[in-house]
Amino acid sequence: MADNEFGCTKWGKDWVRFAESLRQTRPNTQLPSARRMVCDGKVQITFDGRTVRAVVRRGRGTTVTTIEVAPMSPGTTEEVSRRLSGAQPVLTDDLYVAITDAGHAPAPELVSVDCSCPAADPRCIHELAVYYDMARRIDDDPRIALDVQGFFQASAHTSEASTSATPQRWIALNTLDPAAYFIVAE
Ligand SMILES: [Zn+2]
Repeated sequence: MADNEFGCTKWGKDWVRFAESLRQTRPNTQLPSARRMVCDGKVQITFDGRTVRAVVRRGRGTTVTTIEVAPMSPGTTEEVSRRLSGAQPVLTDDLYVAITDAGHAPAPELVSVDCSCPAADPRCIHELAVYYDMARRIDDDPRIALDVQGFFQASAHTSEASTSATPQRWIALNTLDPAAYFIVAE
């Protein structure tokens, strides 16, 4: 997998930015290694609401990285819901731009990031690998970008909507039941 295949959608790119913002201050030789770890399947992610738990294997070691994502703001939730209410809504880059232009950028914010490794670096290679793994997952299924911000939590059927579907580049959201999965904007 080429490096540029991480974050090839705007939804996934938000997670690449968590890793690559370090580039602005200094070269980070850990980034290529982190991407390689993802390609080699070293990152295993499970979701618990807005918490991302990742078991990362590197060499002989295994670490656990935990990332808590902030809930999507009510304004952004309403904007996304409104734009998904039409016929055959899909989470395209165009939709991302439209939501952003409306003043409700859907980019996630992180509440906390913890890793079990002893690295002194504020962002260790395990955390970088998780950011890239999230980007790749979201590129395949942009609904994860919303789900991990609690967008679908208003529904009682969240588990069915989240990550169990067959990965596709674009997901037709009308395959879900809008009444069950989307908050209706007033
Ligand atoms: Zn670590």
